[in-house]
Amino acid sequence: MRKIGIMGGTFNPIHMGHLALGEYVMDELALDEGWYVPTGCSYMKSNIEIVQPMERYEMTRLAVLGNDRMRCMDVEIRREGYTYTYETLEQLTESYPDCSFYFIYGADCLFEMENWRCPERIFARCTIVACTRNGASIEKMQEKIAELEKRYQSRIRLLPFYNLEISSTELRERIASGKSVRYLIPDQVISYIEEKGFYQNEVEGFEKD
Ligand code: ATP
Ligand code: MG
Repeated sequence: MRKIGIMGGTFNPIHMGHLALGEYVMDELALDEGWYVPTGCSYMKSNIEIVQPMERYEMTRLAVLGNDRMRCMDVEIRREGYTYTYETLEQLTESYPDCSFYFIYGADCLFEMENWRCPERIFARCTIVACTRNGASIEKMQEKIAELEKRYQSRIRLLPFYNLEISSTELRERIASGKSVRYLIPDQVISYIEEKGFYQNEVEGFEKD
């Protein structure tokens, strides 16, 4: 079986935190590849201020270009309507029967995932890799993991990660106020953002999370 790490996200825009996390988990868990899956239309976020799925896919594709272990996948952006993680996993396990999947999440997602559509169908098809983010409490994460494992017979691994306090929200605000995001977003992605004029008018707190 090939071991595949899945990094799902809005990637609005993709940043060094996303890339460093995927690279790190691949080494720590000896994964063969990391697949970046930009979300389609997520029902969790208001879509108005989110750059179109195809454009977020393009930024993600540019970001992983040149890393032989990483791929950018269009499974979600191709789907009509809202996209749900369980559907993506079911599609992937069906299309790639020779692969086992490790879904990589930051701590914020660990605490939310039970509220996602059909969490039991997510847990049935992958190992969850829950990584610390922004000083998340390891004890709180362990508690949540124990609770989820009991309720869903899920396999969840806890992995401490560097505290890279980078978020797309803050980067959009920096871009809107004309500040530099160099070294926080890959150069080729910055060029694309500038060319397209993305994130020039970000309104703080506009996005519903
Ligand atoms: P936004 O601020 O728009 O929510 P974000 O920076 O949180 O953007 P997402 O696309 O929402 O990025 O996150 C995708 C995945 O990457 C999530 O699992 C999230 O927890 C994780 N992640 C994002 N940034 C970091 C970071 N700096 N450290 C660890 N994990 C991160
Ligand atoms: Mg987020």
